[in-house]
Amino acid sequence: MSRKILIINTGGTLSAVMKGNGLIPGLSIYDMQKELRMVSGDTDIEIEDFCSLDSANIFPEDWGLLAERISECRNQYGGIVVIHGTDTLAYTSSMLSFMLRNIGIPVVITGSQLSITNPVADAMENCRCAIHMAASQIPGVFVAFNRKVMLGCRASKVRSLSFDAFESINYPNIATISSLGMKIDTTAVPERTGIFKLANSYSDKVCMIKMFPGIHTEFVEAVADQGYKGLYIEAYGIGGMPFLKHDFIGTLDKIIRGGMTVVVGTQCRYEGTKMDVYETGKRALGIGALEACDMTGEAALTKLMWILGMTDDLSEIRDYYSINVAGEITGLSL
Ligand code: ASP
Repeated sequence: MSRKILIINTGGTLSAVMKGNGLIPGLSIYDMQKELRMVSGDTDIEIEDFCSLDSANIFPEDWGLLAERISECRNQYGGIVVIHGTDTLAYTSSMLSFMLRNIGIPVVITGSQLSITNPVADAMENCRCAIHMAASQIPGVFVAFNRKVMLGCRASKVRSLSFDAFESINYPNIATISSLGMKIDTTAVPERTGIFKLANSYSDKVCMIKMFPGIHTEFVEAVADQGYKGLYIEAYGIGGMPFLKHDFIGTLDKIIRGGMTVVVGTQCRYEGTKMDVYETGKRALGIGALEACDMTGEAALTKLMWILGMTDDLSEIRDYYSINVAGEITGLSL
């Protein structure tokens, strides 16, 4: 297998320049090649631009095309690095983990909090770590940031300004870099479960809401009326939702019977849901809501989009959602 690494640029702060309206991703991959060649050392790299976007402007159609491009290139390279804005990076890394399930090479997504043109930026270090991981021959979709490597479907942006912007949620880091070099925890890398087949369809008729005291049930009814097929709810604690004065769970019951898939996750960053404890959680399970368990919000949402892009069969959706596709769910609430 070729050991050459392909670096694909999608934009973000790493490639940013200051313009009249503020920072924009203004550098092409060719403008950054000197720096990238500096950090790649002995590793042979090729570079290409995919797009040049602030990641707030990345949409599911970009995920589909990016997955297709990576799939096309996978046999020509030993690994692929994707440069991406940090804001939606974890959504992209989660969706790519599903669309590129069982890929045979490392696909490593990275970005930075400061532009590569800034001498004190984290950009070079993050690219160095990503290229190193991409050359590791360990297959899967990963995120490299601040001297650590995380599973793509477990990474989440937890800090808006610090260099330590990402954490691996409810899952160990795949690798860390210290004065001893890069140490990869191979026991944390999910095993490939079959042959690779690009699966880049998705449904964008999916909505996400955060529970808050005062939420109106009409809001959820309106979502269902708009033809949405899936709803991901960030509920309270281990999966709590109201059912007394305002019967939110009763409304969910109606929309689930109408054919919508509802997944219940949590607003808590760590440890996930456990809906078989309180009456409220049991009620939600009783009406057929699915449980996000220890998935990140990014993985829970993109998994729903991905599955709804493949099937409309309600029992298939239910079965697929509980399967561990790429290491995103342990199935056990902690
Ligand atoms: N707004 C930028 C983006 O997500 C932030 C970053 O890259 O750090 O594209």
